[in-house]
Amino acid sequence: MRDAQVHAAKTEDARRIAELRTLLDQANRAYYIDASPIMSDGEFDRLLKELERLESLHPDLFDPTSPTQRVGGAPIDGFTSRRHRVPMLSIDNTYNESDLAAWHERQCSALRGGGSLFDHDLTFVADPKIDGVALSVRYERGQLVYALTRGDGVTGDDVTHAARTIRSLPLRLGPEAPEVLEVRGEVFIPLGEFDRINAEREAEGEELLANPRNACAGTLKNLNPKVAASRKLGFVAHGRGEVSDPSFAKGHWAFLQRLRELGVPTSPNSVLCRTLDEILDAVRAFNIARRTLDCATDGMVIRVNDFGHQEFLGTTNKSPRWIVAYKYPAERTTTTLLQVEHQVGKTGKITPRATLSPVQLAGTIVQHATLHNYGRIRDAATEIEGTRTDLRIGDTVLVEKAGEIIPQVVQVVLAKRPSHAQPIVAPTSCPTCEGPVEVEPAEAAEFPSLETARRCINPECPAQVREKLIWFAGRKQMDIEGLGEQTIDQIRASGVIPLDHFADIFHLHSHREALLALDRMGEKKVDKLLAGIEAAKSRGLAKVLAGMGIRYVGDSTAKMLAKRFRDLDALLAAEEWQLRPKTLSPTEAEARGLPRDPKDREETGLGQLTAPAVHAYLHSEAAQKTFRALRDVGVDLSSKDFDEGAAASSGPFAGKTIVLTGTLDTFERETLKAILERLGAKVSGSVSGKTSLVIAGASAGSKLDKARELGIEIWDEARLLKELPPDERS
Ligand SMILES: [Zn+2]
Repeated sequence: MRDAQVHAAKTEDARRIAELRTLLDQANRAYYIDASPIMSDGEFDRLLKELERLESLHPDLFDPTSPTQRVGGAPIDGFTSRRHRVPMLSIDNTYNESDLAAWHERQCSALRGGGSLFDHDLTFVADPKIDGVALSVRYERGQLVYALTRGDGVTGDDVTHAARTIRSLPLRLGPEAPEVLEVRGEVFIPLGEFDRINAEREAEGEELLANPRNACAGTLKNLNPKVAASRKLGFVAHGRGEVSDPSFAKGHWAFLQRLRELGVPTSPNSVLCRTLDEILDAVRAFNIARRTLDCATDGMVIRVNDFGHQEFLGTTNKSPRWIVAYKYPAERTTTTLLQVEHQVGKTGKITPRATLSPVQLAGTIVQHATLHNYGRIRDAATEIEGTRTDLRIGDTVLVEKAGEIIPQVVQVVLAKRPSHAQPIVAPTSCPTCEGPVEVEPAEAAEFPSLETARRCINPECPAQVREKLIWFAGRKQMDIEGLGEQTIDQIRASGVIPLDHFADIFHLHSHREALLALDRMGEKKVDKLLAGIEAAKSRGLAKVLAGMGIRYVGDSTAKMLAKRFRDLDALLAAEEWQLRPKTLSPTEAEARGLPRDPKDREETGLGQLTAPAVHAYLHSEAAQKTFRALRDVGVDLSSKDFDEGAAASSGPFAGKTIVLTGTLDTFERETLKAILERLGAKVSGSVSGKTSLVIAGASAGSKLDKARELGIEIWDEARLLKELPPDERS
């Protein structure tokens, strides 16, 4: 009798569990896919709690696809990477309608060339381009098995733990799903949710998240899935990876419809187009529609619809021919310049930073913008083509924001200048240490009043020391958990704990009592900080070099050096020419026992001018002292990336001959040259028929004219920034 009762109760629970799972799945689908909720949030939470309770009573009924699994399980130890079954290739960009028309024409004529193979009409699909993080989600027999980031396109990081928490992403598909179905799409933080998170962080005195895309990437890569669960990530499907059943869909438009039927979210703003005019209409219409969406978008992706056509058109070594991204121009708005601050960076460079009257721009409120340098303040563009003026406090200015790049002041609206507008005075001594300032003049001799940089040359300058420490401890360098800007300031302000050199960080454990005495530094926080410091000791050579903030040595150069040299000693033993084997002439190379053809030589990432500077720095008294001190405190100076045969030979710059002209705001010319060379380009001094691209900054002169004459492709700085890999943009 008793057994029978227990059995009956268990059967009843199992029935209710199944019922709740179905009900909650339906509710998710109604909410996220059909946008017509079938229950209130309160009701949803109540049913979810009931399901959780029942599942905890019956562990044998565990199911990884249950809606309870979305709340985020235990943190994972680290990321594993997996190979994409079908590579995630990058997409070419266009920025204007005539380029889009040319792309359309190329597809049409190539397909017409295919003859009777394509007897039915050629169609295209325009999908919104969401500014989020690409994700590839794999379903097997209808169950979500894993989700990968794009990574380098060949392998990605497994972020299944975080993807499971995305409420709109089904964990199970219906029986009509193919055996294997890989869905590709974009994960994003809805703008409303982004504002909510920042309001919460502000209230807690935490640093604000810079923009929705970076915040989303950070959320997916957080090892603790509870973080992802607490931020209501969205997902929109826009492509396919491996699909086991070729009859599932014959084209992209049908594929999207089928996904929608399976409960996978797709964009309601996708458009099927038959002609170029329809494509252009779709692109123009979406530029208006997107302003009301709850996610950041920056363009539309246009593709040839039919999968057979796509296959016929194929891919270049970089990206598929049958797909192109059309990007909208950067958003601009006007506001008032209230004030200019002078900030000293880690290399001593003093940068003017504008405080603006707060204004809404590209989905966020903008209050600060970069003014780049003092030359730009003295000689700013105005709204009247070709005329220039100095920028003054009180001016109405045009501010632009392109992608994730910080907003910048691009123009002065001279017509609106008030009579009380104040000239901006460039500092003649360091605003922090009052030390001497060195002015780097602009290259173009016809503008002697301009300058590209102004530097505090005092190596002990507290502002520089502070910036260097922040950089060193930063996420992309030594990644020291708990040692952020505020903590560094607090420790330095205490006056009792020395924190002036990198090695001082690794002595902090001997100041535990003094740390505990600091404001808001509890036992737990101090222990976490010390553990973070201990962990950072083993990051390896690339991170140490990147963290030191050596001129010309950014993240990727540091990594390149660490790929080539086993450890610091090997790097220090290298002669100057060994840092730039690619640049040796055939005769020199032969004499050094290297192949005559530069193509056959190893890549190191340094150029003819940067290599001597880096070599000299590595052997300088200051660097030697730093290395010794770091070694003494037990920092690992061996390479984690060592790989004798590494070289890079793809990307938008690979194989191009590029000429730089004029003054660029974001880069010094030598730095940019080194970056471009690293990305596989040859940087040349003069424009000729062999030039493939000219990058023109401000006050570009005869080289630009010649490039126009020869019909060579010309990029401005904004375009350059868009094309560079994100970690090379500053
Ligand atoms: Zn200074």
